[in-house]
Amino acid sequence: MVKLYNTLSKKKEDFKPLKKEVGLYTCGPTVYDYAHIGNLRAYIFEDILKRTLYYNNYKVKHVMNITDVGHLTSDEDTGEDKIEKSAKEKKKTAWDIANYYTDAFKKDLEDLNIIPPDVYVKATETIEEQINLIKTLEKKGFTYQIKDGIYFDTSKLRDYGELANLKKVDLRPGARVEIKEKKNPTDFALWKFSKPEEKRQMEWNSPWGRGFPGWHTECVAMSHKYLGIPFDIHCGGVDHICVHHTNEIAQSKAAFGENLSRIWMHGEFLNLKDEKMSKSKGGFVTLNSLKKENISPLSYRYLILGTHYRSPVNFSKDSAESAESGLKNLQKRISELESGTGDVSPYYRERFLNAINDDLNTPKALETIWVLIKDDSLSDKIKRATVESFDRVLGLKLKDDRPEKIIPKEIDVLAKEREKARQKKDFAKADDIREKIKKRGYLIEDVESGYKIKKNDQ
Ligand code: AMP
Ligand code: ZN
Repeated sequence: MVKLYNTLSKKKEDFKPLKKEVGLYTCGPTVYDYAHIGNLRAYIFEDILKRTLYYNNYKVKHVMNITDVGHLTSDEDTGEDKIEKSAKEKKKTAWDIANYYTDAFKKDLEDLNIIPPDVYVKATETIEEQINLIKTLEKKGFTYQIKDGIYFDTSKLRDYGELANLKKVDLRPGARVEIKEKKNPTDFALWKFSKPEEKRQMEWNSPWGRGFPGWHTECVAMSHKYLGIPFDIHCGGVDHICVHHTNEIAQSKAAFGENLSRIWMHGEFLNLKDEKMSKSKGGFVTLNSLKKENISPLSYRYLILGTHYRSPVNFSKDSAESAESGLKNLQKRISELESGTGDVSPYYRERFLNAINDDLNTPKALETIWVLIKDDSLSDKIKRATVESFDRVLGLKLKDDRPEKIIPKEIDVLAKEREKARQKKDFAKADDIREKIKKRGYLIEDVESGYKIKKNDQ
């Protein structure tokens, strides 16, 4: 039985899916810059969750949003839209910025051996659904209009703030009420009006005026569209508890009369000198900057798995270097094992399951691998088979049949599209798709029987 800590109930619960297929929604990146390794910690935790569910024979439908509009520089619904700001600074269009950093993000996930979601959905692709959600909220009396947009009236919801244990009188201590016209400090923007003095690149018509949706609305509209509600698990980093997820729950309860998700899970921060790594505070470390220091993405993954997802990690160069040598050492020990197929050790499998099914206890799971490797009573073949089985959850590429040889679904879909274009003799389109595939790190080769896809190793 898988046990997961639910931020909503504040306890570990036995996991029972609502339907045959587990519905999983994870808040995705705001694509205005490269992801830093703190952001990537959140996606590693979610990958372990998904792989643990697979390992326990669950089917999973995983949806992740790409925030390409509506996330402002301040949680107080003021400040600039992050994408528009980045576009101005880099002298690019907002659409180019979003596309560029979305591709960079997908490449990071691939380097970290994170299984991509079944559905990626951009906020800009669901504007209609978001407008419809706001209309429903309006009809039910939860909205009001002020000068700069349509807001959600949090005082209309009896249990607003239950996820974060917010108290009505003392909501978010220290929260500044920057928008004077707001009725309550916790009220949040559902739709913001474009300011007449600044020409936005991303804006749409709506029943209330031209503008763009608020960040908290997109996740409700998208998860509702692709998973139906309620679904099983909703994840993000701990910084989402107080505002973003609290406001998602508020909209869902107001519009549909029920919570969006049954379980809410949150990953702790990656800190730098005891402070949350963040884009604004400097000390911004990316996977590419780690690579330059000879720390591989998988070593970073190994470092993250060494701490439980609900405990903070203090990142330092020393810890990264020791993870690099730790993983190399483990790989070396595994490569020295005699090859051949054996059975998975039932004792170690149970020990591993007890760790990973106990709210994703990855430090204990890693410890189990080390104890197993050093256990002289087991044959090499059993050790190899057992490690390979555990690696389905850990994703450290501990076996020869590496997942990098498996072609991601997204590439496969593109290749099929290209083949169709070729058959219709639309060679311009076919070439375009070939380039797209190449940009994602794969090469496509035409052979007599059709085509072959391989990883571009240069
Ligand atoms: P963003 O792209 O800013 O929307 O954030 C993407 C994800 O990274 C969210 O789930 C955040 O909660 C998470 N996150 C942001 N900073 C950190 C950090 N320093 N450590 C761990 N997770 C983080
Ligand atoms: Zn979200």
